Amino acid sequence: MTDTRIDVRSPADASIVGSVASLSATEVAAAVTGIRTEQPGWETLGIRGRREWLERYRDWLLDHDDEVTGLLQAETSKPLQEARLELAMSLDLINYYCKNAEAFLADEHPRGHSVITKSKRLTITRHPYPVVGVITPWNVPLLIALADSAPALLAGAAVVVKPSELTPLATQRVIDGWQEIGAPGVFVCTPGAGATGAAVVEEADFIQFTGSTRTGIRIGRRAAERLIPSSLELGGKDAMIVLADADLERASNAAVWGGMFNSGQACVSVERVYVEASVHDEFVRRVTQKAWTVRVGTNDGASKADIGPLISSTQLAIVTTQVQDAVSKGATVVTGGERAQPQGGAFFQPTVLTGVDHTMQVMQEETFGPTLPIMKVANATEAIRLANDSPYGLSASVWTRNTERGREVARRLEAGAVNVNDVLSNLFLFPAPHAGWKKSGTGERLGGAAGIRKYCREQAIIESRITPHDEPLWFPYTPGKHRLIWRLLRFMIARDANRKLRKFGR
Ligand code: NAD
Repeated sequence: MTDTRIDVRSPADASIVGSVASLSATEVAAAVTGIRTEQPGWETLGIRGRREWLERYRDWLLDHDDEVTGLLQAETSKPLQEARLELAMSLDLINYYCKNAEAFLADEHPRGHSVITKSKRLTITRHPYPVVGVITPWNVPLLIALADSAPALLAGAAVVVKPSELTPLATQRVIDGWQEIGAPGVFVCTPGAGATGAAVVEEADFIQFTGSTRTGIRIGRRAAERLIPSSLELGGKDAMIVLADADLERASNAAVWGGMFNSGQACVSVERVYVEASVHDEFVRRVTQKAWTVRVGTNDGASKADIGPLISSTQLAIVTTQVQDAVSKGATVVTGGERAQPQGGAFFQPTVLTGVDHTMQVMQEETFGPTLPIMKVANATEAIRLANDSPYGLSASVWTRNTERGREVARRLEAGAVNVNDVLSNLFLFPAPHAGWKKSGTGERLGGAAGIRKYCREQAIIESRITPHDEPLWFPYTPGKHRLIWRLLRFMIARDANRKLRKFGR
């Protein structure tokens, strides 16, 4: 076993809150061999047998909620409410797929599409990729690890999880829990940094990656070289469009929560806001007033803070640089704009910026901080154009009292999900696809049947209902047979009588 360890530090005060082994490529290979050996037995259990284990696992997670959320809080310093929400969403998702997996993975029998093919019986079956590699980021580490692993396990795959080196503790603990309930050895955690993740990409048969676009491209490239599929859930720059007839009170509350939830470190955070000119000033006034009341600090349930620190000094530097870049190009800091220092950790003040434009990093690059840059626009058309002027396309929101208009605007946005009069709610709707467009990703996370079928290879089984000794298409090719077949095919394919019945020379 490796003697290299990674110390995990609290983002609030940089104290060491735990440590994990950092696995080498050889150790990852050995771990994957172990779960690969167990996978056929797991698959043979069938969906009902696997579901029983997942349900027992859900109960173990419920019974260990304080311990797990405690670890999650220690490594992320996120408020207790948000740590619990991660766990609750994970459990809800386990229930969702336990309830629906059997139907989602059931054999299908599509009917033959034409008279000729009606003589065949078609069965579509689904077989899991033997080993699924799940590579996760630090922002919602527990939810992503469990949400990606549970459907893969239910599908019959073995799963290896490589958590972020910044936040491996809760993930490692919940995967230990799988062993504690005595479940088959098909779920393993391989902590480490980027090189350990790269080793997972070498060993697995399917990669479910969540993280930055930069790393996603590297993984996608390597997966293509290995000819294995990958689902890449990457960065975002979600736009919020506030039309003149919006409920400004709800919209401003949502902007502050949607932009600053998890200190703005959510892939689907509100990252930029476009507001129609006639309501811009009033919207900014309300947002600013609310941003003032957002409390910065740590929150263990007793203390009162709404947002914790950023994950690291690197993230703090990115947010600071982007705000400074905006100011240097003419933006106004209405509130916040600087590091906050309740405990000397990587805290940043809730920040509202106005007078922003698309030359600024805050409007173009993922910020991942508690920042709300607000831009005045002439009308919905300009808002849509600017919202689409981004390399990213994860999700977005539209605010209007006219929901029909909201839907129309939504359809014109280049984003995988659009909330009308809401933020982040697409994440809580498991039947909805969560799939980024453009540089926000490829493939899809969640999304009803697609969210579990993606872990399977489809197989078509074709049976002939009638089995004569010979078939008209088979050898020998004779002019008589050829004429007959071609006449039949013409008759079937052509859509007008003339072409159906036309004589032909050869
Ligand atoms: P990151 O890309 O730096 O790291 C993600 C994971 O990849 C980590 O576990 C890391 O160790 C691993 N890794 C790094 N190099 C690797 C390599 N060469 N091969 C294999 N694995 C490697 O991302 P991060 O900073 O941890 O996470 C933040 C990013 O995640 C943001 O861009 C955010 O938008 C994105 N994110 C996206 C979604 C989504 O669903 N679209 C959800 C959450 C976070």
